[in-house]
Amino acid sequence: NREWHLLSRPVGWPKPEDFALVETEVRTPGEGQVLVRNKYLSVDPYMRGRMSAAKSYTDPFELGKVMQGGAVGEVVESGAEGIAVGDHVLHFGGWREYATIDAKHAVKVDPEAAPLSAYLGVLGMTGLTAYAGLLRTAALKEGDTVFVSGAAGAVGSQVGQIARLKGASRVIGSAGSDDKVKLLVEEYGFDAAFNYKSGPVSEQLRAAAPDGIDVYFDNVGGEHLEAAIGSLNQGGRIVVCGMISVYNNTEAAPGPRNLARLIQTRGRIEGFLVGDHFDLQPQFVQEIGPWIRSGELKHRETVVEGIENNLEAFFGVLRGDNTGKMIVKL
Ligand code: NDP
Repeated sequence: NREWHLLSRPVGWPKPEDFALVETEVRTPGEGQVLVRNKYLSVDPYMRGRMSAAKSYTDPFELGKVMQGGAVGEVVESGAEGIAVGDHVLHFGGWREYATIDAKHAVKVDPEAAPLSAYLGVLGMTGLTAYAGLLRTAALKEGDTVFVSGAAGAVGSQVGQIARLKGASRVIGSAGSDDKVKLLVEEYGFDAAFNYKSGPVSEQLRAAAPDGIDVYFDNVGGEHLEAAIGSLNQGGRIVVCGMISVYNNTEAAPGPRNLARLIQTRGRIEGFLVGDHFDLQPQFVQEIGPWIRSGELKHRETVVEGIENNLEAFFGVLRGDNTGKMIVKL
């Protein structure tokens, strides 16, 4: 079994020296446990937070130990009732080829119902993030103008499309390349999109949303957040889902300088954590499934092959190499 360990806590952008791919023995599952051969691993921006020592909503990764992450694999040995050899499970023992895990932390998934990697993305954690963040936390209403950053990524691409399908009057996205911008408009049905690297976000947003925005789904923070506050309409809602533009900062980024606009607009900014919304999972799958089948909701994956490239895939997410969910296939 090969698995990725965190050796030192990255300062600023993580470097390959902060990690090591380590050979270990596979542990035989005890009672109530299963041994899983991982097939798909998830790499996600939030993992950068767990590489730092600061305590957050989850504990930091431990130094010298294997990291965790979402994974889907096939059970090859089982000491647990209700899970048989050959079953596929979603679990949290990622960053490794084989995982011995408590069955209570594994969820059976059906490889016939959807491709296995979908349980990490469009039907999984990132999909639920988009669904719950937009519909519950932002309380999307028909006729809203919605702006989402990181719009070609796993969460953002689903936010924009769900907004469209739920009756938003105008959907605007930002992303980091012209190809991604084209994809948003031509394939995902965004009404407008712009490349945030091509000019000031506030100007590009004003041009794309001349009548302002009612909802901003923030995946990025920084300049994007300030621009969104600047374009916010009366009663506007901002959901802070992620702030990837600051995850590798060594000093705190300056705050939005225009917060006073919230007084005039009675605007609301609210933090969001997907873990608080797992109750919506069945409803989410029920609603999203038909949209995927009918082609009304599209998604992409960027697939990197091999456990040895797991780390590089993670770096790729931070750099923006991915379109849609970044997946590692073993
Ligand atoms: P993505 O698939 O969106 O991948 C991350 C993307 O971020 C990259 O592809 C890149 O795209 C973009 N990016 C990187 N650096 C910057 C930057 N400086 N400015 C603007 N964009 C940047 O990842 P996810 O969909 O998994 O996650 C999206 C966001 O949602 C993240 O902030 C993540 O932390 C957050 N999240 C929060 C959850 C919660 O419960 N609160 C749950 C899941 C995710 P580009 O080429 O466009 O720059």
